Amino acid sequence: MFESLSDGLQSAFKSLRGKGKLTEANMRDGLKLVEQSMLEADVSYSVVQSFMEHVTEKAVGRRVLMSLRPGEELVKIVYDELVDILGPVDSSLHLKADGVTVIMMCGLQGSGKTTTCGKLSQLLKEQNIKPLLVAADLQRPAAIEQLRVIGRQLDVPVYAEEGANDPVKVCQAGVKQAQQQGARVVILDTAGRLAIDKELMDQLARIDKRVKPDQVYLVVDGMTGQDAVNSAGAFNEALELDGVVMTKLDGDARGGALLSVKHVTGVPIKFIGTGEHFDALEPFRPEGMTGRILQ
Ligand code: GDP
Repeated sequence: MFESLSDGLQSAFKSLRGKGKLTEANMRDGLKLVEQSMLEADVSYSVVQSFMEHVTEKAVGRRVLMSLRPGEELVKIVYDELVDILGPVDSSLHLKADGVTVIMMCGLQGSGKTTTCGKLSQLLKEQNIKPLLVAADLQRPAAIEQLRVIGRQLDVPVYAEEGANDPVKVCQAGVKQAQQQGARVVILDTAGRLAIDKELMDQLARIDKRVKPDQVYLVVDGMTGQDAVNSAGAFNEALELDGVVMTKLDGDARGGALLSVKHVTGVPIKFIGTGEHFDALEPFRPEGMTGRILQ
């Protein structure tokens, strides 16, 4: 457990270990370092505060000070709590046993939404499940072509209507085509914006209400920290989300935004994106992420 921590945290916890017996002041110093580390990992302030309150309460309640190995005990409490908050593990797409399952993908422009549509198609194909992609982003002229290119690369059918102006109708027609073609999953690539705006939210809410997707996933750019949290809050208010995909975790980002996004939305983190290729999608595992956040 200690090995994955940064040098700073390691030596702090080691010095706690060395003491044999902790004082409440030592313990609070240790927790202060955890707090600092989480803030540096881009976990939002309010989330860190409530996390620290919880952990401190548990640490005191579990009599860390009285235990034989108080340093270890303290780290364990922090780890367990993080894993708990980041869970539950649920990367199932909850496909229906019969008929077409509709998955709606939403997120800000540039979050990696369209790429993730391709990644999910690839995942399904690997399981011999036939997907169909729907180009429901009518805002960005290049979006339809981008999805067509992905469809060609992956050999997955794409439903698109050139010059269409009602994404609800496009989605409905896409679902119909999937039924006719015997596809089992429809993935709706909806419009994104550079920032949250009411028009975008109204459009997504309309698709949600009229097309009634079985699963609604929010795609969040893991490199954007606090922005990710703000946008997640807005999407969560407008739509009934079923899961989150956090992209771009192949970079240096510590991934603290995951904790905040989880806190704000309350829905499972389904997958993480770890690259631009279509196979760079991993089921989310809280244990792996915990070490990264607490570096
Ligand atoms: P959209 O506007 O939300 O549909 O975003 P795109 O799917 O077009 O992705 C925006 C950029 O992010 C593209 O250059 C993608 O290749 C890149 N991207 C998407 N997911 C990942 C990821 O997990 N890791 C990395 N490094 N790049 C990604």
